[in-house]
Amino acid sequence: MAIKGPVGLGRGRRRRMTPALKRWRLSLELTQAEFGKWLGVSRATVNRWEGGLQAIPKSVELLESLTRGRIIPAAKDQHILPLTVSGRRVREGGETMNKTLAIIKPDAVQSGKTGKIVAHLEQSGFTLRALRLTRLDSERAAEFYKVHREQPFYAALVSFMTSGASIPIVLEADGAVRKLREVIGATDPAEAAPGTVRKLYAESKERNAIHASDSDENAEREITFFFSRRELLDSGG
Ligand code: GDP
Repeated sequence: MAIKGPVGLGRGRRRRMTPALKRWRLSLELTQAEFGKWLGVSRATVNRWEGGLQAIPKSVELLESLTRGRIIPAAKDQHILPLTVSGRRVREGGETMNKTLAIIKPDAVQSGKTGKIVAHLEQSGFTLRALRLTRLDSERAAEFYKVHREQPFYAALVSFMTSGASIPIVLEADGAVRKLREVIGATDPAEAAPGTVRKLYAESKERNAIHASDSDENAEREITFFFSRRELLDSGG
């Protein structure tokens, strides 16, 4: 990424800059790596956010609480990312924080369980932030599940995931990743706890109705695999 200059507080704001804002302007010259660490996402993710995030911090106090008062030294010999903190981002800590990805898999879509599963997710306290009916092709399915490429079930999994339409959904809740894993239950429905999505709706270990991201890092990757930043913002998320 080209050097974009120091923290951008926006033209209007710059004219009204208080001494406190000036201090923050200096102290928030972040490298991509620092900024990513700050938001809990990888440097590669930050790099993908083309042009950075053009926004203005809502208040110095909010910014201070986000950084816990920590002064982050500018790395003058590294690429500097313009400060890109919107009010929403400051509150939520990033577009994909508190979000996770579910996919209603082809078995459940084909057998007409979509409505029940979405209702189950909403009743479990999740808010829908993005949703699409799609059909993965082999290339996309193989890419999505590439962490399993050494597994004996990989080819069957890719074939199953391309066998019909599926429904990726971005879900939001506090502690979204862990919460959704609890709500869906164990991979094998025979081992899933009563009342979980897989216990209620899955057919087998492979045809198990729903996917859920298993870490914040994977949630980030998987959400951006299916949805653009624009789509997430359009939903108010
Ligand atoms: P998950 O995170 O609970 O979905 O489970 P994994 O990440 O371990 O596996 C990904 C997906 O691969 C599962 O949801 C299943 O659809 C499929 N899968 C996992 N283990 C097996 C297996 O032993 N046999 C078959 N046929 N499919 C499996």
